[in-house]
Amino acid sequence: MTAVLSCQGVRKVFGEAVVLDGLDLDVAEHEVVALIGASGSGKSTLLRCVNLLEEVDDGMIHLDGAHITDPRVNPDRVRRKIGIVFQAYNLFPHLSVLDNITLAPVRVHKRRPAEAREQALALLARIGLAEKASAYPDRLSGGQQQRVAIVRALVNSPRLLLLDEVTSALDPELVGEVLDLIRDLKADGMTMVLATHEMTFARQVADRVCFLDAGRILEQGPPEQVLDNPVEPRTQQFLRRLA
Ligand code: ADP
Ligand code: MG
Repeated sequence: MTAVLSCQGVRKVFGEAVVLDGLDLDVAEHEVVALIGASGSGKSTLLRCVNLLEEVDDGMIHLDGAHITDPRVNPDRVRRKIGIVFQAYNLFPHLSVLDNITLAPVRVHKRRPAEAREQALALLARIGLAEKASAYPDRLSGGQQQRVAIVRALVNSPRLLLLDEVTSALDPELVGEVLDLIRDLKADGMTMVLATHEMTFARQVADRVCFLDAGRILEQGPPEQVLDNPVEPRTQQFLRRLA
């Protein structure tokens, strides 16, 4: 079976710093992969490379078997198939919730406005925020804003969803509603790669946990294996510091 996402020998250098050092990662359809590792270990850079927000210096990334890091590829066509959500500041403050969701599909991906709008409203209804469609983001709680940002990433029915520390800017009491939404998406079969420092969440939602260290995946496996019985001393040290 072809992986939805396949990263082979991905290398990314910033100046002198080798941030991704020949990293390999395959993600199967419906699989949820959690990336863990110290701050600066390259989790965000990897997600940004997959979404073509950063150019890789070496190696290849394939999406559904198509070579997306080929320089001839149009990044917008790839991004239509990959949703990405960041830690914070995801919504445009000067646009309504509905316009936030439909802006890229209509402007960048040339979707029909009526169709994008209908889909956006259905997604909002699904997360219980239909009545907020015409509100501006500052009228929403942080948790509601982040749920809208996730829903916005779904509007093109992407093959892959990338989530970069999507709960770390939230007040603790708002984290749960965002995690519940991600759990729902997993139940729907969405293929996801998420960077997180919440080990409880990684344990609950991930099929596989990957520990990044020095620009590579040093250790990976089911959550109970990597989080409870890590083999590598660096993984053990990382988890001990969190405890
Ligand atoms: P993580 O998400 O695991 O905390 P990052 O991928 O954000 O790690 O960062 C990995 C390393 O790459 C860090 O040392 C960071 O400073 C560096 N880095 C990330 N983006 C840039 C950039 N645009 N320019 C220079 N250095 C960067
Ligand atoms: Mg990061």
